[in-house]
Amino acid sequence: MSLGDHLAARIRADGPMSVADYMADCLLHPQFGYYTTRDPLGAQGDFTTAPEISQMFGELLGLSLAQAWLDQGAPAPFTLAELGPGRGTLMADLLRATRGVPGFHAAMQIHLVEASPALRGVQAKALEDHAPRWQDSVGALPDQPLFLVANEFFDALPIRQFIRAGDGWSEKRIGLQDGALAFGLSPAAPQPVLAHRLEDTKNGDLVELCEAAAPITQSIAARIAAHGGAALIVDYGDWRALGDTLQALRAHEPADPLQTPGEADLTAHVDFEALAMAAKTAGCAFTPLTPQGVFLERLGITDRARALAAPLQGAALDSLIAAHRRLTHPEEMGNLFKVLGLYPPQAAPLPGLNP
Ligand code: SAH
Repeated sequence: MSLGDHLAARIRADGPMSVADYMADCLLHPQFGYYTTRDPLGAQGDFTTAPEISQMFGELLGLSLAQAWLDQGAPAPFTLAELGPGRGTLMADLLRATRGVPGFHAAMQIHLVEASPALRGVQAKALEDHAPRWQDSVGALPDQPLFLVANEFFDALPIRQFIRAGDGWSEKRIGLQDGALAFGLSPAAPQPVLAHRLEDTKNGDLVELCEAAAPITQSIAARIAAHGGAALIVDYGDWRALGDTLQALRAHEPADPLQTPGEADLTAHVDFEALAMAAKTAGCAFTPLTPQGVFLERLGITDRARALAAPLQGAALDSLIAAHRRLTHPEEMGNLFKVLGLYPPQAAPLPGLNP
């Protein structure tokens, strides 16, 4: 039995499934899921991420969060949380960079929200000196000040896809055609949750809806509004996306999302508007949506790169320069990736996100 067999059986029993249900099975099926069964990151894997490119990323995010913690009067104890920590690299770099912040390590309780047993194992090794605790969901985080990072977490949450048909919407569904997975369309119907997209779309346009994103963001924002704290959410996407952004990556190459279910990473662009509105509903303030390159430059990535470069030469120096460019340059990750900060309305916005 493979994930393909499981999906075909499910479609035969229940009919065509939404893109969201397909993504959820592909990524997190307990037996066959992409994340559940492997460590997909790095050169040997399928994709790479900012913390895997350079230690500078986690260091600077850590310093931004620690400064926000100081600005709010250094509350103790507090939760230091990460959503979808991957290999634990970002958290390890963040912890190293904040060692010198007086009281920060003594007051922190580390919580990792991670669905993959395979990646929990990798994180446990990377963070063995810090005794993190793992949670299945944001709702399980303690009720206390919350300082949180999430890099490339929201892009892995399942999305539904809809195509505009008059004042209604047809949903893209995945069914079987001659035994193979194939996209189809449901009959058009009104979708009250997409009312705001009637303003900026025309017939035939495709929009995406990530239903899991708002409740997760609300749960984070409610803690920050009630107890203090801050969140740094980094991902690729924009305020509001238009068009099909579902993407499969395998061995660092784009793949057909239906071709090898469970064997490729599946992601979609993040609509930061939905996150910001959910945060606002929960009583949190949010920063301007800021390109990753601008954010990292404001936090001093170029000075940090110079310091790291000082003892280097040859290939090591070249790779540091390439990493700096990759994280910040507008034609690389600098503009595609955005950063949204959440903070209590009475507090100062996070460093790097304040124009
Ligand atoms: N933040 C890391 C890894 C990004 S990959 C980095 O930047 O390198 C996405 C991460 O989110 C993985 O750790 C994956 O297992 C986790 N993940 C995906 N969906 C999740 C969910 N619904 N709940 C918890 N963790 C999830």
